[in-house]
Amino acid sequence: MEPFVIQTAAEHQHQLLLEGWIEQEQSLTAGFTTRKGGVSSPPFSSFNIGLHVHDQAEAVLANRRRLTDSLGFSFDAWTCGEQVHANKVAVVTANERGKGRSSMEDTLPGVDGIITNERDVLLTSFYADCVPLYFWDPQHHAVGLAHAGWKGTVSAIALNMVEAMRNAFGTEPHQLRCAIGPAIDQCCYEVNEVVIERIYELWQQLALPNQLLDLVLKKQNENKAMINLKEINRQIMIKAGILASHIEISEWCTGCRRDLFYSHRMENGKTGRMASWIGLRKG
Ligand SMILES: [Zn+2]
Repeated sequence: MEPFVIQTAAEHQHQLLLEGWIEQEQSLTAGFTTRKGGVSSPPFSSFNIGLHVHDQAEAVLANRRRLTDSLGFSFDAWTCGEQVHANKVAVVTANERGKGRSSMEDTLPGVDGIITNERDVLLTSFYADCVPLYFWDPQHHAVGLAHAGWKGTVSAIALNMVEAMRNAFGTEPHQLRCAIGPAIDQCCYEVNEVVIERIYELWQQLALPNQLLDLVLKKQNENKAMINLKEINRQIMIKAGILASHIEISEWCTGCRRDLFYSHRMENGKTGRMASWIGLRKG
């Protein structure tokens, strides 16, 4: 069953909710935005969340506020990293709450993964095809988000997230719940030999199961392959000690469903960004 459930009410058409988690923990919110229900104009129509794509900043901020309002968070709680397609993870404390909410300049620098055990912090990150990873440790009341494009994936940001949550909160991998959100799927994601080579290296480094390599990387010819970034991240999570039964994976493909999602690949880079979010409301 698809874990990211589309919301049908007109005022919530910008949301896919991770309903299984929300049902288990009343104070938790987690989900992914669509491109619908916002105020941005083409080519960003309409719920663009990214400040770095040359949309009008007022429109982006209005969309961000619409999201926090609908989730019952104050806009001051919105916290995000710079996102540089690397694998650095930062702990968000009360001091970092609100970083990056209204300008690129004060995002958490050089950071693609963010974790917190503070309540009333809304972690967010931004997407147009890359893979959103969600982490929730119910025992230690901690949450995290990681932005995993192909570079973040092959540099194993998922492993760094598990390590960072262990160091910061005492999280054991078997305690973690994970979700892999809407992203470009194997049907739409062709890559060249540079990426193919990095995936082979990752497979060797982590000693991942060889029989899976042909599934996640379907060779088209010598220099091209269709790759499954969601499944590669799932394999890294399992390698990190997360139980397979604790990993939910979305079937939404951002390349196939341009009515719902922005796709950097399919729209030649001129498009908006969706947001992943996760946060725990005040007790
Ligand atoms: Zn597709």
